[in-house]
Amino acid sequence: MTSPTGPAPRIDLHAHSTASDGTLSPADLVRAGAEAGLDVLAITDHDTTAGWAPAVRALPPGLRLIRGAELSCHWSGAQPPVPLHLLAYLFDPDHPELVAELTRVRAAREARGERIVALLRADDIDVSWPDILSGAGGGTVGRPHIAQALIRAGLVASTREAFGPDWLGERYRLPKDDIDVFRAVRLVRAAGGVPVFAHPRATRRGRVVPDELIAELAAAGLAGLEADHEDHSPAEQAHVRALAAELGLLVTGSSDFHGTHKSVQLGAFTTGVEAYERIVAAGVTEVASG
Ligand code: AMP
Ligand code: FE
Ligand code: FE
Ligand code: ZN
Repeated sequence: MTSPTGPAPRIDLHAHSTASDGTLSPADLVRAGAEAGLDVLAITDHDTTAGWAPAVRALPPGLRLIRGAELSCHWSGAQPPVPLHLLAYLFDPDHPELVAELTRVRAAREARGERIVALLRADDIDVSWPDILSGAGGGTVGRPHIAQALIRAGLVASTREAFGPDWLGERYRLPKDDIDVFRAVRLVRAAGGVPVFAHPRATRRGRVVPDELIAELAAAGLAGLEADHEDHSPAEQAHVRALAAELGLLVTGSSDFHGTHKSVQLGAFTTGVEAYERIVAAGVTEVASG
């Protein structure tokens, strides 16, 4: 991977497809990764590995694919619990306990989506759960799919507006029955994977966890922190880098690409080769090559 003369490889370790709340199919996602000039792309759909096989089948020459997922978690050290995201790379997709947990969380997301729709309908907002479910096309359902229904109904103009306080960001926001983050870290490690805390300081998304919790997670097996991300201010990125250095954790940067559900483009933030190599060395699943 390291080339003494060539340009640094472009490595983007966080992207979503239609297997969750992205808008490109897994095959189109890897093609877009190659077109964006990436050398390495990770597919990290929410709570599913359903995009892995079609992404591998469509992998263009020269692009490497890290198979991963983004696990919906919570930290119960605050009331109400703080929701957070754990990226998991190169784990065994057939690990029974992890498979069972992901299946449970996807079902919980559907139950929660249906309850959000019931709240909206109780306020005479005309959105339909069957429409939203079919809009998700069999992928993991999330609030972006409900946001699309609000846009279709002409109630909001953009996904961003749909995530505002009057809508899915606060008034019609409900928690989902997701995974305790310590259990998730241990499960990912048990499945041979590499757990990395996604956008840990993204205060613009809501509450964040204290540094002490991140230190405890590091002791429990957390491998890294995502520092460079559009939801981190420069000061937040610097804070995450310093914390990672203190705790001996690897640092990643990534776009968290969601197709047209967000404006960020593939490769907008990238990861260094050292971190990439640490992840590859620690994971049980091979990096796929096109
Ligand atoms: P959920 O997983 O159902 O709780 O929905 C969270 C997802 O919504 C995230 O993974 C993002 O894809 C998306 N999201 C969160 N905040 C925003 C925002 N302000 N604008 C657009 N998409 C967002
Ligand atoms: Fe998402
Ligand atoms: Fe996330
Ligand atoms: Zn993500």
